[in-house]
Amino acid sequence: MTVTAPSAERFLALVAHDQKKADMIAWAQRHRDRLIGRRLVATGTTGALLKREIPELDITAMKSGPLGGDQQIGALIVEDRISLLVFLVDPLSPHPHDVDVKALTRLAILYNVPMACNLATADRLILEA
Ligand code: PGA
Repeated sequence: MTVTAPSAERFLALVAHDQKKADMIAWAQRHRDRLIGRRLVATGTTGALLKREIPELDITAMKSGPLGGDQQIGALIVEDRISLLVFLVDPLSPHPHDVDVKALTRLAILYNVPMACNLATADRLILEA
């Protein structure tokens, strides 16, 4: 007989580029009742801003995105620790960590993680998270 260890609790992952941070905060406030009580993980600046605006959130802040935070969240995807990725991407600005942005979206696709890259999708996916 095989004994399977219970899988660790999974996170909702939240990442927003600089021009999308206000949108992320507004989104989190709109869905605060769904987010409170969930385990959240975010890139550094996104997480700090969310925690400041909604102190009740249980949010683990990784490194800032340009310093490797996107890759840390990617590693959690590989370990099956992410159940939803809300990644508010700014399509109008260049990003010094563009390769990390691509890597994160690639891993979400590869591991079939529900991923919202804009508010319309995030509003829908959070209803099922
Ligand atoms: P940040 O990172 O939350 O630390 O700003 C987001 C990003 O990947 O640009």
